[in-house]
Amino acid sequence: MGPEKKYDVLIVGNGVLGYAAAFCLMEKNKDLKIGIIGTPDKRGAASWASGAMLASFAEIEKGSLDSEIEKYTFGLNRKAAALWPQWVARINAYADERFKLTLNFGTYVLHNTRADEADDENIAAIQEVLEQHREPYEIADPSTIKGYSPATEGRSLKILYIPNEGFIPSFKIRDAFENIFAKNKAIEIIPSAAVKITVGGKEKEIITAANAVYKAPVVILAAGSKTQELIDQIPEIKSRIPRQVYGVGTALILKQTSSGVTPEKVIRTANRGLACGVHAVPYDQERCYIGASNFISPVPEYHPRITSLYALLQSAMEQVHRLHYKSQVEQVLVGHRPTTVDTFPVIGETSIKGLWLVSGTKRIGLHMSPFYGGYVAAKIMDGKDTFENKFLPERKLFHTMTREQGIRKAVKHLKSAAYQHELHLPKAGWEDMVEEMLRKKVEKIYDDCGIKNYGIPPELLDMYRYGHVKEAER
Ligand SMILES: Cc1cc2nc3c(=O)[nH]c(=O)nc-3n(C[C@H](O)[C@H](O)[C@H](O)COP(=O)(O)OP(=O)(O)OC[C@H]3O[C@@H](n4cnc5c(N)ncnc54)[C@H](O)[C@@H]3O)c2cc1C
Repeated sequence: MGPEKKYDVLIVGNGVLGYAAAFCLMEKNKDLKIGIIGTPDKRGAASWASGAMLASFAEIEKGSLDSEIEKYTFGLNRKAAALWPQWVARINAYADERFKLTLNFGTYVLHNTRADEADDENIAAIQEVLEQHREPYEIADPSTIKGYSPATEGRSLKILYIPNEGFIPSFKIRDAFENIFAKNKAIEIIPSAAVKITVGGKEKEIITAANAVYKAPVVILAAGSKTQELIDQIPEIKSRIPRQVYGVGTALILKQTSSGVTPEKVIRTANRGLACGVHAVPYDQERCYIGASNFISPVPEYHPRITSLYALLQSAMEQVHRLHYKSQVEQVLVGHRPTTVDTFPVIGETSIKGLWLVSGTKRIGLHMSPFYGGYVAAKIMDGKDTFENKFLPERKLFHTMTREQGIRKAVKHLKSAAYQHELHLPKAGWEDMVEEMLRKKVEKIYDDCGIKNYGIPPELLDMYRYGHVKEAER
């Protein structure tokens, strides 16, 4: 064991939430001694595998604003969207010229027929919420969209253009933060993984895989899905915090070989059953990001599954640009969306003074990072709440659906997922048979798990089915 080192604040995790918290703390006091613990390869980081779209309206699904907690979450999402111009300016004030960020705007939302009718409902819901919020949008002419030329069977029925929905390649955000931290002597990047946490005394202690000991009165756990492994070491609180699992996502970076294939704006579908649909995010003049698959796993997976790659490659050629058939795959990214078992985040101080959590942001953590980073820093440094926080870590699970609603939603998601993966049915009443079969399967999971009074998020069915969400934790 090496000699111990002491800090004012230790942050475990080198994803966007750990970095955003570190940056906001640094802004408040540039001499604050901050240690950021994380392996240099950032294996499994959701942040650096993400697009990153800064989306609010395009993320709407039918029914996704029905409950109070979902409306509240959407309200936070809008607040985060409003922060981005200033956030980029704040980062740029510290970053060297070549790391300065540009905030880009504009998102096309495709309504095509490559999934099923759930898309019709989700597109209608997006349009309705845009209208309710008087958010500008227009119906786009497909022939005018740069980087959009789908295969014949992938053409759209309608395309919404939302001019204020933003995006920034996530690696640029990472590089800007790392440039800023490298210049500040009070911030130390600790290139290892935290393997042990002890929270008994006033000072919390972290031991890393390199057998070094780090101490601080304030520790922020922001290790994405792996935060769970550290929480599991703290018996006082581990059963009071919604568990996190791995929302494994794969994405590609494609380099065009024909000009005009790379889009200028985000081109995406609505969210689709069990995942976030297809999206192309411009990286530079000749590169774009194609995302993203999703499956929930109780354990991390670091390599892409063939089914994910297959679906992404096919979607890129069929739904975005037919000339992607000759694009080059420069990189395959795999990250773990930190997903709690009710899909809502865990943000703030625990009942152990000085122990903080910023995690569980699932698929909008990049977008939410200035908002949650700012909250944590203001609360630690000034004792002030920047918003009314309903996501404090030690909380009960939020149930937003009845059992019947949950079952119906799960059937809808499973069906949509099947169509995304090329389901073709005989035209002889098979739709109803498949739906009945799926309903029986879902009902059985609910019955086997003894779930009577509430619905569970469709993507988490298997986590319940295989006993990864214990009854006492629900
Ligand atoms: C494919 C994909 C696409 C996405 N697209 C978008 C999008 O377009 N817009 C959006 O807003 N969000 C998107 N998301 C979601 C978003 O990426 C996450 O919500 C967010 O990045 C989570 O950030 P985090 O810092 O909590 O976790 P992570 O980014 O996972 O970072 C955690 C870090 O901690 C490190 N770590 C793990 N264990 C330890 C340990 N024991 N000690 C020290 N360090 C550790 C990991 O290596 C990792 O680097 C996407 C996610 C994926 C996977």
